[in-house]
Amino acid sequence: MNDRTNAEYAGNGEHPGQGDAGPCGPGCGGGSCGGSRDTAGGTGTAGTAHGSGAETGGARGAEAGAAASGGTACCGDATPDPGPAGGAPGHRPAPPAPGPGAGLGIFDKNLLDRCISCGFCLPACPTYALTGEETSSPRGRITLMRALETGQLPPDDPTLAEESSFCLGCRACETVCPAGVEYGSLLEQWRDHQWSGRNRPWIARILMLIMSRPALLRLQGLVRRHARGGPGAKPDRVAAEPTTAPTRPDTPSGPSLPDGAPDGQAAPDRPVSLMLGCVERGLYPKVSRAVRELRPEVAVPAAQGCCGALHAHNGDSSAGAELARTLGEQLPGTIVTTAGGCAAHLAHHLGRDRVRELSEYLDEARYAPAGEVTVDGRRARAALQDSCHLRNGLGVTRPPRELIAAVADYVELPGAGQCCGAAGTYAMLRPDDSKAVLDPKLDDIERLDVDYVVTVNPGCLRQVQQGLKRRRSRARAIHLAEFLALAAESAPAGGTSGEGKG
Ligand code: SF4
Ligand code: SF4
Repeated sequence: MNDRTNAEYAGNGEHPGQGDAGPCGPGCGGGSCGGSRDTAGGTGTAGTAHGSGAETGGARGAEAGAAASGGTACCGDATPDPGPAGGAPGHRPAPPAPGPGAGLGIFDKNLLDRCISCGFCLPACPTYALTGEETSSPRGRITLMRALETGQLPPDDPTLAEESSFCLGCRACETVCPAGVEYGSLLEQWRDHQWSGRNRPWIARILMLIMSRPALLRLQGLVRRHARGGPGAKPDRVAAEPTTAPTRPDTPSGPSLPDGAPDGQAAPDRPVSLMLGCVERGLYPKVSRAVRELRPEVAVPAAQGCCGALHAHNGDSSAGAELARTLGEQLPGTIVTTAGGCAAHLAHHLGRDRVRELSEYLDEARYAPAGEVTVDGRRARAALQDSCHLRNGLGVTRPPRELIAAVADYVELPGAGQCCGAAGTYAMLRPDDSKAVLDPKLDDIERLDVDYVVTVNPGCLRQVQQGLKRRRSRARAIHLAEFLALAAESAPAGGTSGEGKG
């Protein structure tokens, strides 16, 4: 293991927030001393040692003493970092002077410079919660990125390799960051460099190879036909033809924006295409079938590849972008996806107005769920597990909850918005850490005695499903589309499914 501490990596005067003294004088980062989203990030007014790892960090698992502090504030107040491992606050000596050179060009400097090292993100980070070590926090990882960029750490430093892998990529840190740090983009750039060529985990390499080869994807042809079909579905040739999206009966001008949609509005007369996720078409074909049952107007074009999210999250963001663009050409009109992770990736590359996650789409279409889900003759108790990228990337939280509450007794899990540990390939690459992230959630599910845990992403579905199975829990994990279809089965013929809510 690397035996250097984050303190040694921190401190580069090139970065805003590391050049001038903060409110408390030299060493104050300013972030927890009054920095705000409006004023921070690029103002160049914050100091350096405050929370940049100088007081807090230690290489994971290497120097217990150095890692013991959980992040401190120079002011001694308003510190956002609870420091689960404890540690005495106070000023520390300034970090080493920056070395020469403008950076290696691994990262977008504007993105990297935004972090003011305030530490607000630490309590939101699941891996920091596991270890209590600065290097496993968003702030600590950004410090590592800066050290890599400036050459203070060699590319083969083991802490870089470890932390680029240990991070879930859940983007929970983004939602609490006052400086608007786009951590997800930084992580993609980091892994592009760190996981290039043979350094990429072999599991990721195999999956990426399969997902980027249409011929290999077609091997799932039998399953895919199953996924595209459904009771009353049109033959494939006809189903492949795009149809027109429904409009709200009370607003002829078309659907409204979902919560969190930053800009753009889905055109009301646009065709709607259902994306068949790579994982979902193989493992959960019933999800797509359920969507066809709920919304027969959605077309399912046969020729569609991978969206590229897998590639972007595993060190090949160029391929990820190219696959997204290709899929955008294959799927006409508004793209509806049943995977939160794919929705965020596609929206990033194709534009927010082109992409809708299923619950958003149903919400905009004013879909009124029919029937109810029951267990032993009573209304089922159902909770939602958010998709990290849907929640943290696109800000969508309300629609899936309302849809569940329409057909069951909704129960909010305390950690619904926190990562379940699936995180794309994470559960395969780091099974122990993945289980450690999931365990508290399983405790909550059992404590709250829910019947169903509803997910909006196939990776989350598999993760929660397997966790519940391991525990022999009576709770069942299910995708939102299947859950709504299950409810609709109980509705009398000619029930209220379809448009008409509100
Ligand atoms: S990522 Fe954001 S919240 Fe975290 S330390 Fe940097 S500026 Fe603060
Ligand atoms: S993406 Fe998630 S795991 Fe990674 S640093 Fe941010 S909050 Fe922590």
